[in-house]
Amino acid sequence: MSTDVRVRFAPSPTGPLHIGGVRTALFNYLFAKKHNGTFILRIEDTDQNRYVEGAEDYIIEALNWCKIPYDEGPEKEGNCGPYRQSERKEMYRAYAEELIEKRAAYYAFDTTEELTQARTTAEADKKTFIYNHNNRLNFTNSLTLSADEVKERLDRGDAYTVRFKPELKTLNMYDEIRKGIEIDTSLLDDKVLFKSDGMPTYHLANVVDDHTMEISHVIRGEEWLPSMALHVLLYESFGWERPKFAHLPLILKPTGKGKLSKRDGDKMGFSVFPLEWKDPKSGELSTGFREDGFLPEAMVNILAFLGWNPGTEQEIFNLEEL
Ligand code: GLU
Repeated sequence: MSTDVRVRFAPSPTGPLHIGGVRTALFNYLFAKKHNGTFILRIEDTDQNRYVEGAEDYIIEALNWCKIPYDEGPEKEGNCGPYRQSERKEMYRAYAEELIEKRAAYYAFDTTEELTQARTTAEADKKTFIYNHNNRLNFTNSLTLSADEVKERLDRGDAYTVRFKPELKTLNMYDEIRKGIEIDTSLLDDKVLFKSDGMPTYHLANVVDDHTMEISHVIRGEEWLPSMALHVLLYESFGWERPKFAHLPLILKPTGKGKLSKRDGDKMGFSVFPLEWKDPKSGELSTGFREDGFLPEAMVNILAFLGWNPGTEQEIFNLEEL
């Protein structure tokens, strides 16, 4: 692995970019600039159900408005990028199969009825159903079927997902902000890595891309900290070196409880989107900082100060100084 700093901002086009997303992009961008590295924009659009028309354009326009350019995309000349996972989908299937061969994942043929039944039974016992090492042998999957039966089902075109089989152990991880973290992996569930619609889930696509794009530092919002164990286990299963992780504390509501939402912004007299957004379904219009008359330089300055202080009296910084 090269020692170059390569970071990425990897939003899902599920709606307009939120101010917290702009901050994550800014921190990644500044980190890349500081280390003479590369900042990549990657659109994580593998969840077709949550895809929102216009969201990708919005993300790019918002980054342009804040003057946060990305350095690299699939077309290296002329109009570059961004990377889109939907354009790389065939690659992920091969990686899912590699994990099956390594016995770190398996084909699951369980039906919705089977899973609903399991959930209902658990609820009746006041428990939450978790599909994992405790019960995976109760389901129809490649761990319980013979190799011939599996082949027959695949040849017949039966719907399947690929589930991860976490190695049972105490996993030690390191986050640049939270420092050492220890996890008992027997508490994890067998997460779906590849869906029956032929698309990878966020987890598989994210790890494969971070590895193949040689990302050196994964800098993202703290809401992804609970996924870190799964991601680290995936790196281990593939035999890949893990990147450094830094999970940024979130921008919270004024009460300190929960993530800042658009509603909080509205109450405070401004929207939390950087730009105007028209919801394609409801037609509802939300104004953003630009329409509210804020300058991008001011917004970047404020975002940089959320969670950081230079330790001097200087309060106004431009991008260059940051
Ligand atoms: N696609 C994820 C998101 O929407 C990215 C998480 C990550 O950066 O790993 O926020």
